[in-house]
Amino acid sequence: MTSRGPTEKKRVLVTGGAGFLGSHLCERLLADGHAVLCVDDFSTGQERNIAHLQHRPDFRWLRHDVTQPMDAEVDCIYNLACPASPVHYQADPVKTLRTSVLGAMNLLELARRQGAVILQTSTSEVYGDPSVHPQPESYWGHVNPIGVRSCYDEGKRCAETLFFDYRRQHGVRTKVARLFNTYGPRMRPDDGRVVSNFIVQALQGTDLTVYGNGTQTRSFCYVDDLVEALVRLMATPDDVAGPVNVGNPGEFTILELAERVLALTGSSARIVHRPLPGDDPRQRQPDITLARAVLGGWEPTIDLDAGLRRTIAFFQQTGGA
Ligand code: NAD
Ligand code: UDP
Repeated sequence: MTSRGPTEKKRVLVTGGAGFLGSHLCERLLADGHAVLCVDDFSTGQERNIAHLQHRPDFRWLRHDVTQPMDAEVDCIYNLACPASPVHYQADPVKTLRTSVLGAMNLLELARRQGAVILQTSTSEVYGDPSVHPQPESYWGHVNPIGVRSCYDEGKRCAETLFFDYRRQHGVRTKVARLFNTYGPRMRPDDGRVVSNFIVQALQGTDLTVYGNGTQTRSFCYVDDLVEALVRLMATPDDVAGPVNVGNPGEFTILELAERVLALTGSSARIVHRPLPGDDPRQRQPDITLARAVLGGWEPTIDLDAGLRRTIAFFQQTGGA
């Protein structure tokens, strides 16, 4: 990887900035010398995620729902506002759709007025339950439009469409990253996603709940590698619009993940099986050929065991609460 050079100070808006990924991104942008405005409705984000940034003169935050229009003087926008855990995005599916679609429109309008560059955090969910493996950006996906995951998958697909139409129709400088499963410190203990569930269960000595037979696969990216990729994508020339897959190509079954978490925590908790949720994708692995090419040799650097150790340490320090 190339080393970080000096960067010109920018006014950066991060929506969803009080969430898991957003708070790490805010931290990184401040460290790079930018002025950061964090916008969040705190529906799944938490004030404690940004508490350590509040004394920083270049950091401001605003409670705002992105389904409503907003104004701000900004040079760059990272749009992360959207619940990401299936448990959370399925709790109020209509709100999830409104957040993805109206949120994208409102922020694209802001980018248009400001002449700002805007980056969308899309998702591997646009590939649905993929019949092509690993998934390259050229694959159009296999998505159920009417299932329980559709509010998230189709909302994100529609947001991608808006990004490309605002680019073609209005000349907005847009970028789309497709994020694969990402984990790390500041996931909520009640988040419902697999990494936080297994770690909290292992530390509490309660059963690890593997949904289905556990042979479904995911590829897990540590948060620092992900943030590095987003920052690099934002810095690419205007003709780099994506979509660009961002994730760690290491692929594991959910059963393997459970066994690793048990080994790394030294927990004697048991593995139990629970019903597989509707439309659960059977396999996921990013093809990151494009990311390597356009993001200056970017490559994930933190393997699953190293990332799990850091995440376990976080949950041990915070008591999993
Ligand atoms: P998260 O739930 O921790 O963060 C989402 C943030 O958006 C929260 O702070 C929440 O309060 C805020 N938010 C939700 N609706 C909002 C609204 N209407 N207005 C303003 N703020 C709102 O989840 P995360 O894992 O940090 O995900 C961040 C982004 O990355 C999401 O857009 C998600 O779809 C995308 N993503 C994440 C992953 C992953 O594995 N973590 C994978 C693919 C895509
Ligand atoms: N999963 C599981 N046990 C849990 C939570 C999730 O076995 O306690 C499974 C889930 O069914 C899916 C995988 O782990 O196959 C990843 O789930 P997650 O909710 O983290 O993300 P997504 O399904 O959106 O990739």
